[in-house]
Amino acid sequence: QSLQQIFDRLKPELCQLSSVDAQMKLLVERLQLGENEKKARLLVVQLLQEVFVEFFPDSQILLFGSSVNTFGIHSCDLDLFLDLENTKTFQARAKTSTEQAGEGVSDDGRSEDSILSDIDLSAASAAEVLELVATILKRCVPSVHKVHVVSTARLPVVKYHHRELNLHGDITLNNRLGVRNTRFLQLLSGLEERLRPLVFTVRYWAKQKQIADNPSGAGPLLNNYALTLLVIFFLQNCRPPVLPTVDQLRDMACEEEECVIDGWNCTFPSQPIAVQPSQNTQDLCSLLAGFFSFYAQFDFPSSVISLRQGSALPITDFLSQTKDGEAPPEGPPSEPKLGPLNLLDPFELSHNVAGNVNERSLHSFQKACQEADKFCRSLRYQNKSAKGKSWGLARLLAPLGHAQQAHPERLVITIPFRSAALPEGLRGELHSAGDGFRLLWSRKVCSAVEVVLKTVLRCELEASTASGAEEMETTLDDSTQSVESHSDGSPQRVGTKRPLSSGSDDSATPPGKRPRLARTAKDDFPPWVCVQKHAVWVGRRKVRRELVKGPDSRPEGSCLELESQVTASIADKEPELKDPLEFKVCPQTVGGTENTRLLLNVEPGSDKAGVFHDFFHFLEVFVPKMVETVLESGAGSA
Ligand code: ATP
Ligand code: MG
Repeated sequence: QSLQQIFDRLKPELCQLSSVDAQMKLLVERLQLGENEKKARLLVVQLLQEVFVEFFPDSQILLFGSSVNTFGIHSCDLDLFLDLENTKTFQARAKTSTEQAGEGVSDDGRSEDSILSDIDLSAASAAEVLELVATILKRCVPSVHKVHVVSTARLPVVKYHHRELNLHGDITLNNRLGVRNTRFLQLLSGLEERLRPLVFTVRYWAKQKQIADNPSGAGPLLNNYALTLLVIFFLQNCRPPVLPTVDQLRDMACEEEECVIDGWNCTFPSQPIAVQPSQNTQDLCSLLAGFFSFYAQFDFPSSVISLRQGSALPITDFLSQTKDGEAPPEGPPSEPKLGPLNLLDPFELSHNVAGNVNERSLHSFQKACQEADKFCRSLRYQNKSAKGKSWGLARLLAPLGHAQQAHPERLVITIPFRSAALPEGLRGELHSAGDGFRLLWSRKVCSAVEVVLKTVLRCELEASTASGAEEMETTLDDSTQSVESHSDGSPQRVGTKRPLSSGSDDSATPPGKRPRLARTAKDDFPPWVCVQKHAVWVGRRKVRRELVKGPDSRPEGSCLELESQVTASIADKEPELKDPLEFKVCPQTVGGTENTRLLLNVEPGSDKAGVFHDFFHFLEVFVPKMVETVLESGAGSA
């Protein structure tokens, strides 16, 4: 059952209830991991543990993340940490005793060709160990498939899928902090029972509004961990506070509970009983409304959110602190990556958990909070004037309707005229030639664009039946410079729609101005409707370097074959985007004799993974260069 199906079933039930509090509790009941699901997950862990210990003696598999942090829902992934510390000790011991005994067999009788003898754990890189882990998963664990290493992530992982349980999972190394922050979330849930319903509701709301929960993890949206921290921070800031600050929790712990990981103080009490209950008596309904109101007004640009101190630190203070080379209050010195949203990890204080979030996603988040805040102030939130209509969560959690979705925007890539695309004999004659040459040129360029999209970047293409020319007429005007990239290459948003007179617009040319190139349907290519299933723009440089195997002076986009191989390699090794990106490219020739150019108007369609902007910024630079290469090689000739 998809979450959407769950919501469709849940909606009438929600409306039957008598309060928002009851609705939030029902949501938790319906979404949370069931006992059988938890048992099935534990069995997978046990199976993996049995297999791994064969290859990595004394290793341990630890569960963390939403399967155990009390916020897990039916479809959540299985986050695992493979702890090889004891294996390293084992290996060091075995090495010494082998050396002493001559060679061949280690102290437990393991022969030299054990997988462990292939790798020295104390010297191997995380990527090498993960490759080994991936091999073991592929060869030795039944039902596990789609195994691949993602070495470009902040914490490199092996991803896999368990077929029977339809379960996605990650295995990381060196992730004690992840295990510890999971333990921290468990503690908070244990000491404050209002936390779970709030987090479940906010996570679900964010998913429905398409502002969070980015399954690929690579995009600019908030992830579930960051959202959870935002809920906790809000609860620390209620009056009186619902939750204590992380510093206060540290002070409540006893000596045996002291915990430092990678230099960061991660101390907090192990049992909720050590913490005084909150004096705050607000119900869930008012806390949820409070959450939206808090972030609707929050001054993100000038704040660094600190759960440790339970307050927003002015960014100016924070910057001057780190600029002076001072370490954050505790822990090793290093600076967090600051961005539009600065949310410090509660323990690893040099890590901005929302470092991936861009301006646009932050804006969507804040706007959604403002809308929710407005709704929560209406009588319909608490069913006081719903008059049989949906109310409370049934209304708040409704998915975005098509009309509510962010108005699709169009971004433009410009390809200037170069005579290279024209046959030898015709080059240089453009000035004296008419529109026919421009048409010939744009056709050639369009074929080259098609080669770039289809062959080099492996987009699935479909020529749309609607004429691109017709559509462009409604929004674009040849004389409007604002639709183009600036000379510095930065994109400009297409201006607001304005009606253009139909038919020949030459008639509207003011006297003294050169008539514009008539844009008849024959002048423009039909748009392409494209589907991109892989994040082919992520990590291209690295893959290119690996393929070339050595220094390469060729700039990006200058070799057709190499770029196609780079794409193929990414598509083979990295997972597909969980939700493919759909977009449309409408080509359009504009400009007079001297400044002919082809505009590629790129417009997002379905973009659940929130990757359109990243992809566009890549295309903007890549396509013009690649088109030139294709034209020079003659590969694009129609
Ligand atoms: P879900 O899987 O339901 O989206 P989750 O809490 O398991 O929720 P994951 O993205 O799977 O989230 O991450 C697993 C764990 O890894 C988190 O619980 C947290 O401990 C840690 N984690 C995730 N993202 C970050 C991050 N940006 N910074 C630090 N730790 C993170
Ligand atoms: Mg998870």
